[in-house]
Amino acid sequence: MRWQSQTLDADDGALPGLTRAGLVRSVVTPEFEGVTFHEVLCKSALNKIPSSSTLPFGWTINPMRGCSHACRYCFARGSHEYLELDAGHDFDSQIVVKTNVAAVLRRELRRRSWHREPVALGTNTDPYQRAEGRYRLMPGIIRALTDSGTPFSILTKGTLLRRDLPLLTLASRQVPVHIAVSIAIADPDLHHSLEPGTPSPRARLELVRALADAGFSVNVMAAPVIPYLTDGKAHLDALLGGIAQAGAVSAVAFPMHLRGSTRGWFLQWVAEHHPALLRRYRQLYGRGAYVTPEYSVWLRGRLEPLLERYGLNRDLPSEPEAPPSPPSQPASQLALFA
Ligand code: SF4
Repeated sequence: MRWQSQTLDADDGALPGLTRAGLVRSVVTPEFEGVTFHEVLCKSALNKIPSSSTLPFGWTINPMRGCSHACRYCFARGSHEYLELDAGHDFDSQIVVKTNVAAVLRRELRRRSWHREPVALGTNTDPYQRAEGRYRLMPGIIRALTDSGTPFSILTKGTLLRRDLPLLTLASRQVPVHIAVSIAIADPDLHHSLEPGTPSPRARLELVRALADAGFSVNVMAAPVIPYLTDGKAHLDALLGGIAQAGAVSAVAFPMHLRGSTRGWFLQWVAEHHPALLRRYRQLYGRGAYVTPEYSVWLRGRLEPLLERYGLNRDLPSEPEAPPSPPSQPASQLALFA
């Protein structure tokens, strides 16, 4: 069935936030049951990270907003509220696609003021979520960055990246390219419940292997660690052992944060699936977004020997302190999960 025949009425005034974002049309298709794609024409592709940030990149690109990977703990969820969509089910199913992102990016990269600072993809929503299979935005982005001599990094849970591996291999001969894969959960049942739209942990380990075989030094984001559910020694041992065996050179892990709307969405899941843990989560997080310092210290004590045993501890960062006040910039500029 052609997408054209399934176009929803884009001008019904029901989505004012999206209209401001440059909505062209909204599309549903049987291939993506339960998902609506909102195709927009973006005005800019590069997002500047605040200069106060300590992140190792100055710019990001987010080809889509919302993410059908649907991780319950995703802390980019709040960014959907800027579109007047909700941070729960809408984030998983109302996907905004910047169909012109590669062309706009190429134009921005031609500016004299562009100094080829590192650009990160996958900092807000996953650029290799399922929709990328239909929209094919990433090849144009990769080519534009490479042609302009801009170093870039990609963080993803999407095994769809394998489609672009030949292109990424070519790009890495011209500019620094860093690829990280996110694998936080080894337990298949828990993965299915908490990250229902993502490829299996096994498939992601195979992606790590394919990247390593292609010559990339792969970092794995073994985060977030979900307190009481994935912080057991046996789970972390299996997770990090599998990551090392797949050929990753390093891994980072830290406890789950529950910022903004993500907190309610995650705790609703806890109430449904692990009601006995609800009180413990409320004690651990209090009214805030971060675990207690005692838990952080305890988890580091558990992680460090495992990371060392598997030779994955090259990049272990200090656990970030809770900010003194809520972040002033949107979550889209802070999130580091894909
Ligand atoms: S954590 Fe990453 S992969 Fe999961 S929903 Fe959020 S952006 Fe998508």
